[in-house]
Amino acid sequence: MKILFRPLLCTLIAVAAGCATPSHTSTNTASSAPSAPKAATIKAAPAPLLLISIDGYRTDYLSRGLSPTLQSLADHGVHATDGMQPSFPSLTFPNHYTIVTGLRPDHHGIVNNTMSDPVLGKFSLGNRDAVSNGRWWSEGTPLWETVQKNGMTSATMFWPGSEADIHGEHPRFWKPYDGNVTATERVDQVLSWLDLPVAERPKFITLYFDEVDHAGHDFGPDSPQVNEAISHTDAALARLVDGLKKRGLLDRINMIVLADHGMAPAPSRNVVVVDKLIPIKHVDVVATGVLAGFNPKPGYDFARIEASLEKPQKHMTCWDKTRVPERFAYGSNPRVPQLLCLADVGWRISTSDYLAKKKKQSQGDHGYDNQAPQMQALFIAHGPAFREGAQVPSFPNVDVYPLMTHLLDVPAAQNDGDYNAVKDMLKPDAQ
Ligand code: AMP
Ligand code: ZN
Ligand code: ZN
Repeated sequence: MKILFRPLLCTLIAVAAGCATPSHTSTNTASSAPSAPKAATIKAAPAPLLLISIDGYRTDYLSRGLSPTLQSLADHGVHATDGMQPSFPSLTFPNHYTIVTGLRPDHHGIVNNTMSDPVLGKFSLGNRDAVSNGRWWSEGTPLWETVQKNGMTSATMFWPGSEADIHGEHPRFWKPYDGNVTATERVDQVLSWLDLPVAERPKFITLYFDEVDHAGHDFGPDSPQVNEAISHTDAALARLVDGLKKRGLLDRINMIVLADHGMAPAPSRNVVVVDKLIPIKHVDVVATGVLAGFNPKPGYDFARIEASLEKPQKHMTCWDKTRVPERFAYGSNPRVPQLLCLADVGWRISTSDYLAKKKKQSQGDHGYDNQAPQMQALFIAHGPAFREGAQVPSFPNVDVYPLMTHLLDVPAAQNDGDYNAVKDMLKPDAQ
C-alpha cells in the first residue's frame, strides 16, 4: 500500500479531533499496571477500538465540506481518499457482517438483506425473529465473539448480527435495533460504556448511524436532505470526539469510521418489470430490487427461463449462480438464489404486483456492482496506532477485519482479508 503524508502543524488545527491533548483523566487500562515487569516480557494491553459505521456515506460526501469532525479525523489520521470497496452485493447486512468477520458475503452466509434458506426459511431486515436467530449468522465469527473469547469485553451500539446469539454468544453489551434512538443517544451510550470500571469496560465497541442512508434512499445522494443528514451525523461525531477528549481518550482510542457502501441516484421510474420478460408465476421470487434472485418452482422449466434472462437485457444482467463473474466472489453459498439479475447503476428490478402495492417513492439505491464509483464507501482511521495525515489508496473492505484483530491483538478467524495490504496505515511500532 502506497501512502501519502500531509504535513500538519498541530498548532494550526482548529477542529475538535486535534493533536495530542494532555490527558488529565486517563481511563486507559494499559498504564495502570502496579509494578513494572521486565520490558521484554511486557505485552501492553491493546488500546480500545471503536468501529463506527455511517450507513450509506459515499466516500466523496466528505468533500462537500459538511463533515468538519470527520475531516479533522482524516487530517490527523488515515484516509482512503478514493474510498473503500464494498463487497458484493453492496447492501447493508452483507457488508456490515463482512466488516466484522473479514469474510465475503458468499462465505459468511448473509448473502443479501432478503434471503431464503432451505432449513431456516426467510430472512429480511424487518423480521426480528430471523435477524436475532444466530443460525443465520453462524457461518462467520464476528469480532465481538473473538474479543470475548480472549478475555476482553465487547459492546455494540447497533450492528447487524449483534442481536443474535452467534455460537451461543452475544456482545456483553448490545441493544436491539431501534431506528428511533437518536444519534446523540447512541453516542452517549458509547461514552457511558467507556466510563465503566476498568474490569467491565469494553475493548471493542461498535457505533452505527443510519440517517445518511435513509435520506439517500428517500431523496437521492445529491439532495439537500442528504446534506442535512451528513451535517447532523457529523454533529453527533463532534459530540463523541468532545466526550473522548474530556475523558483524555481521544489519542488513546483507535477509531475506524467507515461506511458499508455508497449511494447512486435511482429514480423510481427506472425499473425493469421482470414479469414482462418471464412468466413470473413459474419461479420463486426470493428478492427484488437492485439484485433480484429467483429459484426454480417445481413443475416449471427453469432452464428455459434462465436461457431467456441470460440473454442481453436492457438495464440489467442475469446469470445462473454458477456463472456470476469471478470478481463478485458470489454464488457458491446455498443461500444465493439459482438465478441472479443485477440492475445497472441507477436502476431496479421489480414485479408488477410489487409496483402496484408500493406507495413510497425512492430516489437513491445501492447493491450495485461493487466496483461502481457510486458504491465506494468512506474509510477514515484515527488513534494511537494510526499514522497521522496519511492518505491511502482504495482497498477491499474484507481487509478491515485483519486490521482490527491486529489492533486488538486477538487471533483472526479464517477470513478473506489481507493484513499486509493495510498494515502501512499503522505507525511502524504498531505494525
Ligand atoms: P438497506 O438500505 O436496504 O441496505 O438497509 C439499510 C437499513 O437497514 C438501515 O437504514 C436501517 O434502517 C436498517 N437496519 C440497520 N441495522 C439494522 C438492524 N440491526 N436490524 C434491522 N434493521 C437494521
Ligand atoms: Zn447500508
Ligand atoms: Zn440503504
